[in-house]
Amino acid sequence: LDPAGLPAFDNSYARDLPGFYVAQAPDPAPAPRLVRLNHALAAELGLNPAGLEPVAAEVFSGTSLLSGMEPIAQAYAGHQFGGFSPQLGDGRAVLLGEVIDRAGNRRDIALKGSGRTPFSRGGDGKAALGPALREYLVGEAMHALGVPTTRALAVVETGQPVLREGLLPGAVLTRVAASHIRVGTFQFFAARGQDDNVRRLADYAIARHHPQAAQAANPYLAFFDAVAAAQARLIAQWMGLGFIHGVMNTDNMTISGETIDYGPCAFMEAYAPGTVFSSIDTQGRYAFGNQPTILLWNLARLAETLLPLFDADEKTAVDIANAGLDRAAAAYQAEWGGVMQRKLGLDADDAALREGFLALLPGADWTRAFRALGPAAEGDATRLRALISDQPALADWLGHWQARLGPGARARIETANPAVIPRNHLVEEALAAAHQGDMAPFDSLLAAITDPFHEVSGREKYLLPAPEGFGRYVTYCGT
Ligand code: AMP
Ligand code: MG
Ligand code: MG
Repeated sequence: LDPAGLPAFDNSYARDLPGFYVAQAPDPAPAPRLVRLNHALAAELGLNPAGLEPVAAEVFSGTSLLSGMEPIAQAYAGHQFGGFSPQLGDGRAVLLGEVIDRAGNRRDIALKGSGRTPFSRGGDGKAALGPALREYLVGEAMHALGVPTTRALAVVETGQPVLREGLLPGAVLTRVAASHIRVGTFQFFAARGQDDNVRRLADYAIARHHPQAAQAANPYLAFFDAVAAAQARLIAQWMGLGFIHGVMNTDNMTISGETIDYGPCAFMEAYAPGTVFSSIDTQGRYAFGNQPTILLWNLARLAETLLPLFDADEKTAVDIANAGLDRAAAAYQAEWGGVMQRKLGLDADDAALREGFLALLPGADWTRAFRALGPAAEGDATRLRALISDQPALADWLGHWQARLGPGARARIETANPAVIPRNHLVEEALAAAHQGDMAPFDSLLAAITDPFHEVSGREKYLLPAPEGFGRYVTYCGT
């Protein structure tokens, strides 16, 4: 297939990094049907949406390739819940190629759910429609919230059912990423003692993601610092939004600093640091409040892979790595301070105000409580009072906070604190309807979450937490 108006695909990963992947054609789908094509993202990528539409079902199911696509499955390793797996890799994904987007950035175009690969182990290589649409929704929400993220370009139903807790409609998600290089990609080669390959990967990642590091006295240390800064910024943003990734394994932490792998993630409603949604996270390793600790744990795993590049002397290399990890911890604290400063509408971070507000919040809806600071900044704390149980402590905090606010605080607060997040009960409602062939709830939810800072009238249902009867929400990996 080669419809007019589509740009050339490039394959720099395949070209520059032989031995880092296996060539792997996607499975053709028996009856591909385009469910959704992300027109805005297609345009951003320089792909003409109108030219794409007629071939989208075929191409984004993996049934036909466009000229220049060279599908590969990438190798990677990773620590999963703290235990090391020396070989994971793309078990149900293939990278089709790369395009240079309108802003000049190289972006990966990959399929997820397009069949087995040499990395599939016991898995079927497939994906179900519900989880593919869920990834589409949450990724678009994160993008609209200003969080670096992979995004869905398309969801195509394959016409082939997949076996999960019963037969479900099968689908392929097309994922767009700054790249798919993970901490676990470095671990794959480090674990095999292949220092030259670690260096090759680092050089590629520096050129693609952190080119300024190449000019530094120690480029690999500057690279580590740049990755740490990007990931610290990302996790601080997650924390500000009440986002729980759910599976922060090292294979799910990107070198670019984009959020990847929307499996068991969910947004917290009632604030509790121990909140966990994932069915398999029984120890709470990836609980909301643990995410900053896990960030640093994962960065320590990255630093380990880079030791031979930091310095030829092992002891010196370890000292360099430890200093880098101290800087990463400080970078996270600075990012978090900045996030909270903006959420509270302040001119500078204030630890007492920040911690004081968080101390009032347990049990309150995270999103609604921060959003209620908008009117509270103008003296109307009605909405905030309705959410907080310790009224005397709230009154005391409000007094200190209001005294610190400058002009225009409300407007700043309302651009830092969204009104709309993809609430779990609404996501489930949209997926259930899609399963019955009704995409209307998906489309209205998508419209609301991609305009998250405005309280549009007629959209009140998107502002409210799950009704009592929704019960405890449980999420699943790898469906
Ligand atoms: P995740 O938990 O999504 O980060 O995936 C961990 C590993 O399992 C990766 O190597 C995936 O490619 C692989 N995987 C997840 N689901 C499947 C599946 N249905 N078939 C084959 N491999 C899978
Ligand atoms: Mg993953
Ligand atoms: Mg996954």
